[in-house]
Order: sequence, then C-alpha cells, then structure tokens
Amino acid sequence: MLLATDLDGTFLAGDPEDRLSLYQTIAAHPEIKLAYVTGRSLEAVLPLLADPTLPQPDYIIADVGATLVHGDSLQPIQQLQSVVDARWPGETQVASVIEPFGLERQDVPQARRCSYFCTPEQAANPALREIADELGCDLLYSAELYLDFLPKGVNKGSSLQALADWLELSHDQVLAAGDTLNDLSMLSASFHGVCVGQSEIALLEATANHSRTLHANRPGCGGILEAFAHFGFLGEHGIAAERRQAAQPGKAELVMVYHRLPYEEYRNAAGKLQRRRPTSPNGIIPTLLSFFGDGRPGSWVAWAVHEDGDDPFDSHTTVDAERYPKLTAARVKLSKEEVDIFYKRFSKEAFWPTLHTFWERAIFNEDDWLVFLKVNRAFAERTALEAAEGAIVWLHDYNLWMVPAYLRELRPDLRIAFFHHTYFPSADVFNVLPWRRQIVGSLLQCDYIGFHIPRQVENFVDVARGVFPLKTLERQNCAPRFITYGCAVGLERMTTALDTGTRQVKLGAHPVGLDIDRVRNALEAPKIKELMGQLREEMKGVKLILSVERLDYTKGILEKLNAYERLLADNPELLGKVTLVTVCVPAAKEMTVYDELQSQIEQAVGRINGRFARIGWTPLQFFFRSLPFEEVSAWYAMADVMWITPLRDGLNLVAKEFVAAQGLLGGRGVLVLSEFAGAAAELKGALLTNPHDPADLAQTCYLALNLPKSEAEARLRELFDIVCYNDIRRWGEEFLAGVQVQEVPEPLTLVS
Ligand code: UDP
Repeated sequence: MLLATDLDGTFLAGDPEDRLSLYQTIAAHPEIKLAYVTGRSLEAVLPLLADPTLPQPDYIIADVGATLVHGDSLQPIQQLQSVVDARWPGETQVASVIEPFGLERQDVPQARRCSYFCTPEQAANPALREIADELGCDLLYSAELYLDFLPKGVNKGSSLQALADWLELSHDQVLAAGDTLNDLSMLSASFHGVCVGQSEIALLEATANHSRTLHANRPGCGGILEAFAHFGFLGEHGIAAERRQAAQPGKAELVMVYHRLPYEEYRNAAGKLQRRRPTSPNGIIPTLLSFFGDGRPGSWVAWAVHEDGDDPFDSHTTVDAERYPKLTAARVKLSKEEVDIFYKRFSKEAFWPTLHTFWERAIFNEDDWLVFLKVNRAFAERTALEAAEGAIVWLHDYNLWMVPAYLRELRPDLRIAFFHHTYFPSADVFNVLPWRRQIVGSLLQCDYIGFHIPRQVENFVDVARGVFPLKTLERQNCAPRFITYGCAVGLERMTTALDTGTRQVKLGAHPVGLDIDRVRNALEAPKIKELMGQLREEMKGVKLILSVERLDYTKGILEKLNAYERLLADNPELLGKVTLVTVCVPAAKEMTVYDELQSQIEQAVGRINGRFARIGWTPLQFFFRSLPFEEVSAWYAMADVMWITPLRDGLNLVAKEFVAAQGLLGGRGVLVLSEFAGAAAELKGALLTNPHDPADLAQTCYLALNLPKSEAEARLRELFDIVCYNDIRRWGEEFLAGVQVQEVPEPLTLVS
C-alpha cells in the first residue's frame, strides 16, 4: 500500500506517542510505501530527511504537486516530472507579468511554482485569473494568505494520481492524509482518505459527503493510525505489536558510553583474557569513574574484541566491586576487523582530518561508513538495555556520532548528553563529509552537547543550521571564562540553547581539565626527582625549549622545526645557548599516513643539527618515542620555554600539564601556545603564536626566551590558577550540571 501524506499538521503533528507509534509501524512494514505530499519545496523537505526519528519516504511530491522525486536519490521521477515541466512557463515569465499587481513574493524555496502573499481582496481581482490563463497556469489561493501560480492541472491530487498510476496501484491501495484545503485534491481523487483531527473546517465541509474519507478524531499521526484501523490496512494487531518492541528499561541511572572499557583487557601468553589498570593518557577515565562513587547504579558501555573460538563472551563484568559497587561494564562484542575499520581506519582517515580542517587528506569510503553505523547501532542497543527510565546517558566523542539517532528511537525517555573531545570545524569544512546530514540529525537528538570551547560550539551551530531550520533560544557572553577577540579560536558570544521544532538542545563549552594530583605524584616520585637533578646538570648554561606531542600533521611539528632553524639563523647569539628538545610519540605502525611526515621531520632534524651543531652543543634533540607520563613531567618542570604549535587542536593537554608542573615547583617557564589550540581560548597568560606564520613562530619563541623574570612569573601564576581551578573534576561536574538543567522557557522574541 501507499501512504500519501501531507506533512505540516498531518504527518509531523499529533501526540508524541502517536507519532512514535506510526513511525515505528511504517519502519517495521516495508510493504507500506510512503510518499510525502507537501506544499513545501523539496529544499524545505531536506531537513526532515536528516531527522532520524522520521521514516524516510519512498517518494516526495513537493511544491503542491509540481515536483515529483524518488525519496532515496532525490532525482526526478522522470516520466511524471517531464509532464509537469512541459506545462510550466518559467519563473521569470510569471514574475514579469505579475509585477504590475505589486504582490510580494513569499520568501521560501519554490520550484515550478510562484507563491505570493495576497489578501482576499487582491485575490478576488479577475485580472489575476486572466493572466494565469494566458500563462497556462492554475491559481491556488490558500489560508487566505498565499496565492500560488502552478502549472495547469497540477495539484497534489493530480500528482498523486500520476504516481499511483505509474506504480500500478488501485485506489484501494492508497491512503491519502491531510488537514487543510490544500489537500482536498488528494482526498477527492477516490483514494481512501483521512482528514486528521483538528483539520481545517473548510476541508471537513468539502469532504463531508466523501464516502471514502474518514474524519478522524486524533490530530496528526493519531488520525492516520485511526485510518489504518478503519480501512483495515494492517489489521489492528500489527500496530499494537510495533510499540511493544521498544527496549525495556535497565537499572543504570547514569550510563557512560566510551569507546574504551574503564580497565584494559589483554590476552596473556596462554590466550586467556586478563585485565589491568587503563593506561589513560589524561586521567579522564578515573574522573568519569568517580561519578559512580556515590553508589548510584551505573553502567559503562564499551567495546570488547571477541573472535569466534574465543572463550564464551561475558556481556557484563564488574569494574571495581569495592569502590563502585553498583557499576557494571557492559561490553559490546566486536570483531577485531570491526574495531580496525571503525576505530583505527575510518575514524582516522575520514573524520580526524576533516574535524581538524585538513579535509584534503580525508578518505571517504561508503563501506567503512556502513561498518561505522553497525558499530554505533550496537552501542545504542546495548545502552538502551542498560539505562533506567529517564537515565542520563553520557556519550563520548565522534566515534559514537550516530548513537543518539538509534538510541532516541529505542528510548525516547532518556537524557542523552554528548561530549565532543576533538576540534569541531565550521560548515565550510565539515560539509565536506558525505554523511553530514545524518551526523547532524543524530547529534540533534541529544538533550545536551558539550565541546571544549565556545568557538567549537558555534561551529557546530553553523553546521547544524545548514541542515535544519533552528531557532536560537539562548545566547551567552563567553567572557570572562574565555578569550573573546584575543586569539584565533576566541569568540564573544555563543549559543547555549536551540529549538529544533521538536526538541530543545542545550550546548555548553567545557574544556577538559587536569588531575593535578597526578602531576604532583609524578613530580614527587624519587626516580623523577633524580631525573630532574640529572637534567638540571646536563642543561647547565643552556635554555631548554621543550616540545611534546604525538606525530600528527595537525601538531605543526615541521613548521616548528623550520621556525627554529630561522630563529637560530636570525639570532646568532642564541647558538650554544638554547636547545630544543622534542618528544614526539610515534604513530602505530599500521598508520602509514604518517610515514611521509616522519621522514620529512627526520630530514629537517638532520639539516638543522648539520647546519648549527658545534662540539659540545646540539641545537636539537629529537626523541621519537613515547615517554612515561612521569618522565614527561620532569621535562616540563625543567623547561624554560614550552613551545606548543598545533595548526589545529581540540584542546591540548600538554599545555596544561606544563603549567601544572611548573606551578607546583614554583617555576617561571613560559608557555608559547598556538592560537589554534582550544586551550588558547582558556589559558590567559600564555604567549600566543600563529603557527601558520613562520615569522611569528620564530619571533614569539624569541620573545619567550627573553621575557623578563617578573613577567614570566606573573604569567605562570595566572595560568596555574586557571589550571588548578578548572581541573578535571570541575569539568565533569559542570558538564553533568549542564545536562540536568531545566528547559529554557521560550522567550517572547527569539534571539536571531
Ligand atoms: N604524553 C605521554 N608521553 C609522551 C608524550 C605525551 O604520556 O611521551 C601524553 C601527555 O602527557 C598528554 C597526552 O599524551 O597527556 C597528549 O594529550 P594532548 O591533549 O596534548 O594531545 P592529543 O594527543 O590528545 O592530541
């Protein structure tokens, strides 16, 4: 059968329960073909196609019948569209003859029709009808406000009839649904029909004698469901059964959904699965765990690799029975291949470069996207089974972008929150992603979305506006917490609440903080004290410039090395007096995308040392390896200048760790930080530098080397205060507080 439905007031309206019930019924019955039949233009239907809660149409009849397309490809149904096209005189022809009437064109997308604002008096002017006849157009006046010029004989009913004929459907196999006079032509075409509850009186009057049209009681989707039962389309049982399939609530009041388990799993020599403490790089896992310390029932959803032939799979394990008695880990079973594709390959090849504005490097592969969807669905299904009624679900990072779409359908009751750990670019870059509509549609199913800094929030809003018509409900000043005009990623005001038409989405900026005790413990370890003493000896008489990062093109390593060469060349007095130590964590062997960068770096290191080294002085020491955090902390404490130069970075924890180490030991090292790192918007006291500008990179480093002691001390004090106060505990608490905040009341005038 074909359900041909008007959108506004009909398919998009009704009680939320009825809507869910109808949408799920359609999704569960592939034999129901769906056609949107709307006065909107195709462009204005596109946002609905990105909404994961709506069933996707097989056909779209838009522009009051003048546009007919396939729902999947959005390409015209050629046989039908060409008939309409042949009757349309063209937009400019209509516009030129209508000009003397002084009507204002409606400012919405329109194709093969021209729509004007028009009072009933103006509409009564017979000259308009004459002009329409001359042009070969029909006139349609609706809602006492809109006057449409349409191709002759084209309306919703005629196009639906053409579609039904083309599909070879009999009238009994079509159910047309509507709520205004605009839909009358569909309901007059002898299909089964329904005027949903709260329909326009004129439509009810006009269809009062239609034996095949039901006047339903319930508005919107509820009316369509009544019609299903009335005409016996699926049988009443079919409808009742769909709703029962929704997931049954679990027990967890807080569900953490993170790609990694809160402990590390590995197989020992005998192939037995063992666990150990996580080697979390930034202490985030202990912080997230601490939210279960109050004994609240909780669940931690993460993947676990399982291959056929392994021991039986445990879907649930305890995390730490003593500290978190009511927390269980819920393991999502994935094969090694799935993890490799979803996490190592696709996320790194497609999303990572695009998110960091290196979109030319991105590789998009549709098959990988399908694996990504499958994995995200598995996470959503597991989460739906864990969460208690009304529970908070906290999702982490872009690997789980599509979870909200699936989860919202399974569990409309949940409070879904998402924290985005990586940079988020503006629409110009993000829109390169082939799946941008699905991703945005999914994220807008969240109740709360957090990013590190306001710029990333606003970039997301920029992207989302390109997919959905959104109202801004609330905006806030970014100062004094964040830098406004003082850096490349600064911003004066940010959006904090959006209305999507069906829900409110709140937004917040929460830069991840540090666990200061972790740095303190590192610095107090006897082994590290000894290392610091040794380094102090070795570095006597030279100033230490330090650089710590992963090998990645986003980190600006090559740019930094080139700037260092320039610094030495331009300032010969520095020769023998400074040393740049770089700790660069190599990428995993299989990540061949980094091979070229690695060899370029190696060449630059060789060139610089070859050019400037003297007996007893090496200008550049490059460590291509990962050091334990404790050792890195010792280097932080010893550095005179910390030189952090990412071309783009979500936050940059290294900057904060340096500040913490220096602050704890009363140092006065100078932080030189790229103004393209998220942390730059927060870390007042750093010397900001533009890594895209070779001259600025060298000059700012020079400035840092020569900063007066008192200024260096004052800057560090300011930085240390920020890093201590906004620690990781506060980050988590503020995020959760944001999630729990009540709805924003609709302001009288919406902020634009
Ligand atoms: N790090 C480390 N050993 C090293 C180099 C870095 O443990 O040899 C840690 C560093 O302390 C920091 C993390 O790696 O916590 C890097 O985080 P950041 O946010 O700066 O960059 P990301 O790698 O997340 O882009």
